[in-house]
Amino acid sequence: TLTSVERDTAIFDLINREKHRQESGIELIASENFTSRQVMEASGSVLTNKYAEGLPGKRYYGGCEVVDEIEQIAIDRLKELFGATWANVQPHSGAQANTAVFLACLNPGDKIMGFNLAHGGHLTHGSPVNISGKYFQPVFYGVEAETGLIDWDKVEETALKERPKLLICGASAYSRDWDYERLRAVADKIGALLMADISHPAGLIAKGLLKDPFDHCHIVTTTTHKTLRGPRGGVIMMRNDFENPFGIKTPKGALRTMSSLLDSGVFPGTQGGPLEHIIAAKAVAFGEALSEGYYNYATQVAKNAQAMAKAFVDKGYRIISGGTDNHLMLIDLRTKNGVESGLTGKLAENTLIKADITINKNMVPFDDKSPMVTSGMRVGTAAMTTRGLVEADMERIVDLVDTVLVNNDNDAKIAAVKTEVNEWMKQYPLY
Ligand code: PLP
Repeated sequence: TLTSVERDTAIFDLINREKHRQESGIELIASENFTSRQVMEASGSVLTNKYAEGLPGKRYYGGCEVVDEIEQIAIDRLKELFGATWANVQPHSGAQANTAVFLACLNPGDKIMGFNLAHGGHLTHGSPVNISGKYFQPVFYGVEAETGLIDWDKVEETALKERPKLLICGASAYSRDWDYERLRAVADKIGALLMADISHPAGLIAKGLLKDPFDHCHIVTTTTHKTLRGPRGGVIMMRNDFENPFGIKTPKGALRTMSSLLDSGVFPGTQGGPLEHIIAAKAVAFGEALSEGYYNYATQVAKNAQAMAKAFVDKGYRIISGGTDNHLMLIDLRTKNGVESGLTGKLAENTLIKADITINKNMVPFDDKSPMVTSGMRVGTAAMTTRGLVEADMERIVDLVDTVLVNNDNDAKIAAVKTEVNEWMKQYPLY
């Protein structure tokens, strides 16, 4: 019987080890967060047993009455959270959400324009190793070498010259806000669709702490597990649905709406059965994000990022663009106080992990090192804010990071930092 299945200690021991790792260390990876217990409970539920191809009320399987209700709640909460009128909560991940949009809006070989991966963009916005760069024709915009900022005039210039069919904004390592209004004006000039991938700052956008992309961008995608603090996954949204500009018709001859094309782009276009356990966990997370408490959380994430950026600058580190508007920052490690440091992203990542501080190495704009080495590190405040840390704690974290980086060949000093980190984190129990 099911109850006599032998406990898989190999895996559960490892899960316990991972829990301990998460609880005892300082997590600065900008794309990570800690979900609530109830988000994990939903994602580890019996819903994993259910097939539900289709959409609520329109399924290809029987027995979907309960999951229909769950998925509808997820959709409704997400729409409320962002002021959207349409949402699909089925994409298994951010990459899946973006791929579904491309399938809905593009033909193979069409031109797309995204933010350069090497300047902080994402693989799914046209990188040659991703389907977005293999099946479509990518062109890119980037940041200015001197400022680390996107120059919107240059974006317009490139867009008018290249005339992409889809213009993509959003990034994985850009610490500044976006001029969605300007980008829409550019898109309108060339008849392009504008998509925002707000995976990183979604939680801050939901709470009005950053510019709202929804009035200007035709389509918005996001992951659900970064600042949004939900389970790993993706969603697609629109504030204003519209008839597709590609002439694609229903069997009765009417132009199909973008929402119907996007729904088809997810299923059957790029996915099979939705993960209803994850959709339930998304619904729980969206419910949490609708709360007053989450507003306080998002505000603290932003305040902590300001405090962390200031602390790094005070220690002589160079932050790309000089600071941050959101939850993350990208640090060019090549110099400290204007002097060559000898540090690389790889060295920083590998040394900090010895002190139980997790960051990720990251290319900086115009990097002279390979993606496996890099000159930079990306850090963010979403996870440590969930743990309850505030501005003064960010200064202490930066002190610890700096001690490790400066003493990267001194095992005793690194071990002392690790002990301090582990003791400190005991005061902030996670689960
Ligand atoms: N889009 C952006 C901007 C991201 O930063 C990420 C994740 O890092 C993704 C998409 C991909 O999300 P996932 O890893 O869930 O596929």
